[in-house]
Amino acid sequence: MPLTGIAIFKLLPKTNCGECGVPTCLAFAMNLAAGKAELTACPYVSEEAKAQLSEAAAPPITPVTIGVGDRALKVGGETVMFRHEKRFENPPGFAILITDTMDEPEVDARLKRFSELQYERVGLTLRPELVAVKDEAGEATKFEALVSQVKQKSDGGIILMSTNPDILAAGLKACADRKPLLYAATRDNLERLAELAKENSCPIAVKASSLEELAELTTKLTESGIKDIILDSGARSLRRAFEDQIWIRSAALNRKFRPLGFPTIVFPGEMTDDPMKESVIASMFVAKYGGIIVLSDFQGESLFPLLVERMNIYTDPQRPLATTEGIYEIGGPDENSPVLLTSNFSLTYFIVSGEIEASKVPSYLLVKDTEGLSVMTAWAAGKFVADIIAPFVKKCGIDDRIKHHKLVIPGYAAAESGGLEEELPGWEIQVGPREGSRIPAYLKAWKP
Ligand code: SF4
Repeated sequence: MPLTGIAIFKLLPKTNCGECGVPTCLAFAMNLAAGKAELTACPYVSEEAKAQLSEAAAPPITPVTIGVGDRALKVGGETVMFRHEKRFENPPGFAILITDTMDEPEVDARLKRFSELQYERVGLTLRPELVAVKDEAGEATKFEALVSQVKQKSDGGIILMSTNPDILAAGLKACADRKPLLYAATRDNLERLAELAKENSCPIAVKASSLEELAELTTKLTESGIKDIILDSGARSLRRAFEDQIWIRSAALNRKFRPLGFPTIVFPGEMTDDPMKESVIASMFVAKYGGIIVLSDFQGESLFPLLVERMNIYTDPQRPLATTEGIYEIGGPDENSPVLLTSNFSLTYFIVSGEIEASKVPSYLLVKDTEGLSVMTAWAAGKFVADIIAPFVKKCGIDDRIKHHKLVIPGYAAAESGGLEEELPGWEIQVGPREGSRIPAYLKAWKP
């Protein structure tokens, strides 16, 4: 039985020192009981209490890692139903499907897309993480050869898909060192797959035809000592698959039901034959609550929106993404290059710097720390106004890099131009465009 908040409180030091991020031990105990805090956040818990609290301290959804090294994917570990309560922790992984009945050029084309489709956005690299290799031919040697090929030509994580333990064993021969996910244990093959997972220290997916059966199978696996489990509820209709995701998350978080406290795997491609619908279904599982999303295929135009959606859902809604304050050189500027100013909201920075780059006019971009707020919000909050911007311009060192004294401020901060000319004697304040898309034309016409 999980411990109540009061039972946990009795085991805490009761000094109310606040080092765990909340003001009192009671508040920390309540968060721990609700799965919204980790025991490691309190540095003063005795070893004896730690032992007693281990169950309460375990994350309600076990984190599971697939793969090794830099490309390892960690899923699960979630503690909330909704991201306004607290951030979602581990973004779902996207997988591309390859089967042993595909011809060589198709396999190569998919592996090429898997490796090459990656995008830089707000300083992050967005890309898919997994290749799902599926047995359709029923031939162990053929499967093993395909897995070898996937391993050689991609550095991502691998999902081995078959219900035949001998075929999975053949796949493992080729890639056990990559710690692949074994998909899937069912009522019929559970014991043999559990052995394979234990022998190779690999995570294992369980597939059932109902949530009750799923809970029964995961209980057997955990009793045999396996902890790294991924859930497939077996639902392939949109409505049931969606409901199952909600039930699984809710059972794990709200009812502390351990047998369903694991990340999930979903297959949008098995719910429709239409690639557009598949993408829409996949996007639903990004929000609710897919752990691994296996796509039957992807192209840039279907993958990119999913990657961006995932990034947006898994950022911390309470902490804006921010860029470091300073001078950014774009395109090798010199002493006659324009100097533009913007806020340090990452999206603003990447849009403005991208437009400057696109203009091919080498420029300096001054990024003022506005605590991650966009230009208009920062201006309205009094964080992007003349008497705050001027000391930054004086101190940042741009003066030593240019001959002219012209500063281009964002159009949305035009009201600060007079104040800035007073605060920055000798500088000419120029009002730039309001919209980033107009920056290239503006810079091309700009004169020192
Ligand atoms: Fe209590 Fe530990 Fe939090 Fe301090 S850090 S308030 S002792 S729970």
